[in-house]
Amino acid sequence: MATYTTERVIQVQHWSDKLFSFRTTRNASLRFENGQFIMIGLAAGGRKIVRAYSIASANHEDHLEFYSIKIPQGPLTSRLQHVEPGEALLVSSKPTGTLVLRDLRPGRRLFMLATGTGVAPFLGLIKDPEVYERFEQVILVRGARAVGDLAYADSVIARLRADPALAELAGDRLIDYPSITREPFRHRGRITSLLESGRLFEDLSIPPLDPASDRVMICGNMRMLADASRWLEALEFDISPSIGVPGAYVIERAFVEEFQSAPPREEPDELRSTLNSGAEGTIDSRADFS
Ligand code: FAD
Repeated sequence: MATYTTERVIQVQHWSDKLFSFRTTRNASLRFENGQFIMIGLAAGGRKIVRAYSIASANHEDHLEFYSIKIPQGPLTSRLQHVEPGEALLVSSKPTGTLVLRDLRPGRRLFMLATGTGVAPFLGLIKDPEVYERFEQVILVRGARAVGDLAYADSVIARLRADPALAELAGDRLIDYPSITREPFRHRGRITSLLESGRLFEDLSIPPLDPASDRVMICGNMRMLADASRWLEALEFDISPSIGVPGAYVIERAFVEEFQSAPPREEPDELRSTLNSGAEGTIDSRADFS
């Protein structure tokens, strides 16, 4: 069973009535791979209320950062959205997850496909030097409903570009492609439509996906995950079949209990027990991240 440390909230930023991000202290002993998630939560009424959260900060940073939805009736986020600097946050000592670089075979371009808060794991990964050692081009495709929903990731990318070391690393090799479904914007439409129609590749003036040289990571709502996976499988991209066995693409398996289109992927007992631990710590894998 995972143990929890008590961290302190350092900073909270509200991006809209539905989204906020917060930064906490990080226990010196906590190690994680960029792209992983961790159980976090609050103590309330003598219970622990914990949920899975992707870590939005990079593993070389001395703090932790998270990007969160606000669900008015949600056991955790109805409380968490009111957290303030100085307050306590419970953080598990066992990060885990399947959105990791080591489960991708070598390639030339890395596509990161995200909807909603599913962008969080990629915001740590785009600051990871290994991403740029392994791939010539990194294309972050992030979908949201409203323009305002892009603000948190916009700010992380702006900070990355303002940081001399990270800017040199990423340079013009990091390509950001935000797309909006419900408001006017320079790129519009669902990620899967943009891929299938070829629009994304035309807009960026880049060649279409090729399983021989492209690798893909996907994190987001169930529909996007299912549609994107089906499309990738049709193009003969193979999913990483289990942790530690590389493939041409990876998804966050913890989201996809009901996800049928991709071949089953074994999960270690540790992941299963992490997801089932905690007083109210069970996970609804049907979360809609768009
Ligand atoms: P819950 O009872 O957990 O959820 C109530 C309902 O809200 C769910 O049934 C679902 O329909 C919807 N919902 C939950 N989360 C979201 C979401 N993010 N976007 C849209 N709808 C949602 N949430 C985050 O906000 N940020 C993250 O980085 C994040 N990472 C996750 C990583 C994994 C591996 C998993 C399995 C889930 C992740 N979640 C994330 C969802 C998170 O665990 C909680 O479900 C969420 O914080 C809401 O908690 P709650 O107790 O308030 O409501």
